Amino acid sequence: MFILDNLWLGGAAIVIAVLAYGGLAVYSAMMRLGYERNIRARHIKEMDLAIDRAQRRQQDTAARSLSWSGTRKFVVARRVVECADETVCSFYLEPHDGKPISGFEPGQFLTFELKVPGEKKEVTRCYSLSDAPIPGVYRVSIKRVPAPRDVPEAPPGLSSNFFHDAVKEGDILDVRAPSGKFYLDMASDRPVVLIGGGVGLTPVLSMLNAVVASGSDREVWFFYGVRSGIEHCMREHIEAIRAEHSNIHIQICYSDPSGDDVQGKDYDHAERVSVELFKRVLPSNNFEYLMCGPPPMMESLINDLREWGVPEQDIKRESFGPASGRKAPVKPVDPNATGPEIVFKRAGKTVHWDPSFDSLVKFAEANDCDIPYACLAGNCGTCLTTLIEGEVDYQGNDPDFEAEEGTCLACSCIPKGRLVLDV
Ligand SMILES: Cc1cc2nc3c(=O)[nH]c(=O)nc-3n(C[C@H](O)[C@H](O)[C@H](O)COP(=O)(O)OP(=O)(O)OC[C@H]3O[C@@H](n4cnc5c(N)ncnc54)[C@H](O)[C@@H]3O)c2cc1C
Repeated sequence: MFILDNLWLGGAAIVIAVLAYGGLAVYSAMMRLGYERNIRARHIKEMDLAIDRAQRRQQDTAARSLSWSGTRKFVVARRVVECADETVCSFYLEPHDGKPISGFEPGQFLTFELKVPGEKKEVTRCYSLSDAPIPGVYRVSIKRVPAPRDVPEAPPGLSSNFFHDAVKEGDILDVRAPSGKFYLDMASDRPVVLIGGGVGLTPVLSMLNAVVASGSDREVWFFYGVRSGIEHCMREHIEAIRAEHSNIHIQICYSDPSGDDVQGKDYDHAERVSVELFKRVLPSNNFEYLMCGPPPMMESLINDLREWGVPEQDIKRESFGPASGRKAPVKPVDPNATGPEIVFKRAGKTVHWDPSFDSLVKFAEANDCDIPYACLAGNCGTCLTTLIEGEVDYQGNDPDFEAEEGTCLACSCIPKGRLVLDV
C-alpha cells in the first residue's frame, strides 16, 4: 500500500512537472509571440511615419515651388466674424488667377500691400495664416486695433480698420508669398505646447489645425488666453478639436471672466496663461514651446520657462511687433547732426546720421528716402535693404529674420560708421 501510494505520488509529481514545464513553454512562446508582434507593429508604425514624412516633404517641396516673388492678386472669397465683440474677422483669400498657390509652414504669415484711401503710399502689414495649409485658399484673422488708451485722440489702426470697415467679399488685394521663421516642424513628433494670447492665437491655431489635419497622434497642449468670453475666438472649432482628439489638450484661460462666463463650459482656468499653470497641468517641462501674444505675457513666460529649466532651443516665439510705424510720428532730422555719413544711393542724397533716431528706416523716412517696413521688430523682412558699403549695429537685439551678408534689417539697426545704402 505504502509503495503504491509513493508510486502514485511520484507519478503525480512527474505529471505536474511535465504540465508545469509545458505550461511554462507555452507561456514563454506566447510571450515571445506577443513581443515579436509588438516589435513588428512598432516597425510598421515607424515605417508608416517615415513614409508619411517623406510624402509630406515631397508635397511641401512641390507646394513651395508654387511660391512667387513680389505681390500676387488675391480675391477676398469670404469674411467671417470670429468672436462675440466682433473685433476679430477672418478673411479667406483665393488667387485671382485661379492657379495653384504655395503651401506654407503652419505659423508663417502673409504680407499685404494695401491701397488705403487717403494714404500717399501703400500700407504694408503682415498677418499670420490662421488655418492649416489648405489647397487653393489662405485665411488670415485680423483684430481691429483702436487708438491707444493713453492717446485716445490718435487715429485708429490703419490697416486693421481698413480690413474691418472697407474690405468686402470680391475685393482684390496685393499679397506677398507666405514667409517667416516661426513655425511648427511637421516632420517631428516631439510633444508641443502651443500658447496664444489674444489675437496671438492666429499662428498657433494654424499649427494646431495642421496637426489635426495631418491625422498625427502627436501630443499637443494648446493654451489660449483672453480676458473674457466676448474675446474668445473660434470657440466651436476649438471645442470640436477638444472633443474629437485625445492627444490634444485644450486649456482656455480667462484672466477676467464676466458674470456670463461659465468655468468648465466656456473656459478652463480663471487666470492668465503662466508657467505656474503649466506646472499644475503638464506632465513635465519636457516639451517644445511655441508662443505668440502680447509682449508682457511672452516676456514673463519666457523668463519663467527658463527658470523652470526649459532649454533655450525649446522656446520659440512670434512677436506682432510694436504694432505701429505710426506710433512714433516722423520727427525732423537735426540739420547740425555730425554722425557718420549715410548715402542713399538711388535717391542721390547724402546726409549725416542723427543719433537721436533708433533705426535706419525712421531716419530714411525723415529724409524722404522711404524704405518699406511693416513689423518694426526685425521679424518680417519687409525692410531688408542692400548695404553697398558699411556695417550696422543691431544694438543687442537679435532679429528673428535672417538678413544675408550684404543686407540689413533697416527697421532694427543703426549705422556703425559710414553707410552706402541701395535706397
Ligand atoms: C509677423 C506678424 C504677424 C502678424 N499677424 C497678425 C494677425 O494674425 N492678426 C492681427 O490682427 N495682427 C497681426 N499682426 C499685426 C499687424 O501686422 C498690424 O501691426 C496690426 O494690425 C496693426 O496695424 P494697423 O495698421 O491697424 O495699426 P497702425 O496704423 O500701425 O497703428 C497701430 C497703433 O498705433 C496707434 N497710432 C497711430 N498713429 C499714432 C500716433 N500718431 N500717435 C500715437 N499712436 C498712434 C493706432 O491708434 C494703433 O493703436 C502681425 C504682425 C506681424 C509682424
